[in-house]
Amino acid sequence: MTKRVVLIGHPVAHSLSGAMQQAAFGHLGIDARYELWDRSPAELAEAIAELRTEDFLGANITIPHKERVVPHTDRQSDDAHVTGAVNTLTREGKKLVGHNTDVPGFKVALDKLVGKQKMPRHAVVLGAGGGSRAVVYGLIREGFQRVVVFNRHLHRAESLVKHFARSSSHMDLRAMPWHESIIEAELSKAKVLVNATSIGLNEDEAPIPAEILTPGLLVLDLIYSPTRLLRDAQAAGCATSDGELMLLHQGAASFTLWTGQPAPIDVMHAALIEARAHGITSAEGEPASPEPASAEPASPEPAGA
Ligand code: NDP
Repeated sequence: MTKRVVLIGHPVAHSLSGAMQQAAFGHLGIDARYELWDRSPAELAEAIAELRTEDFLGANITIPHKERVVPHTDRQSDDAHVTGAVNTLTREGKKLVGHNTDVPGFKVALDKLVGKQKMPRHAVVLGAGGGSRAVVYGLIREGFQRVVVFNRHLHRAESLVKHFARSSSHMDLRAMPWHESIIEAELSKAKVLVNATSIGLNEDEAPIPAEILTPGLLVLDLIYSPTRLLRDAQAAGCATSDGELMLLHQGAASFTLWTGQPAPIDVMHAALIEARAHGITSAEGEPASPEPASAEPASPEPAGA
């Protein structure tokens, strides 16, 4: 019987995750299908309940449900527990275990960007959603001494900081209101900037003005495309990286959790590149930019339920 893995988000239209996971199943001869489920927050509980049957290997959880899904799990891995965010579900009988593979994914992306550089361990993070939690936890674990989180709704950044109170007790983690002058002041002292908002995902917009980017800053955008922020940063003399490595490595870790097998990384990477060539630009399952009605289907995976 064909097993099922689903991506639950809202909205989900096209998915790079679908392309790379389906390619990995195919490569290893695993009879499994990756489906897209568009479920609003009000429909989340019912969708999660459906996963408790033998048909399912598990699921990916994406924007905006990564924090909301936690109470629907029976148990959480250490990374999911510490971050309070879940992007992967596995099934043990009727029980669901929540994992956070964004954490190892972000580590690979950060290592590539920072390399062996000796530098002030001071970072600015834009955004305080589920993705940001993996980022902040990764920065704490990598020995950053000061991390400042800016978010449109300050209370969300404050509750993120509160959530990490214990694991960040040795360093300076703080939430600050989203004011350009305050972001500029923090950026002038920082070495790393991470965009963990979804600004730039569907529109060609940057979360902050180009003028406040300082040369030499290392800029990582979790979005998997050459966003306006990344283009501005390159023009300002910053080193930049997009969300590709994080997406690839979180997906590889999820694949191993579902199947118990090492992920065929090269196959998954090739599928990502191929999917992008077909016009899919969204990182995880968010809506891609509107396509003309006559365009070829952009995604190799079956349509979502
Ligand atoms: P969430 O829905 O949990 O959080 C969204 C974040 O974006 C919040 O901080 C939200 O602020 C902010 N935001 C959204 N729209 C605006 C706006 N118009 N102005 C200001 N702030 C805004 O999503 P995730 O954390 O799961 O994902 C965030 C981004 O990171 C997405 O683009 C996603 O694709 C990407 N991502 C990529 C990964 C990868 O593997 N490459 C992994 C994880 C995420 P507020 O709280 O104020 O609403």
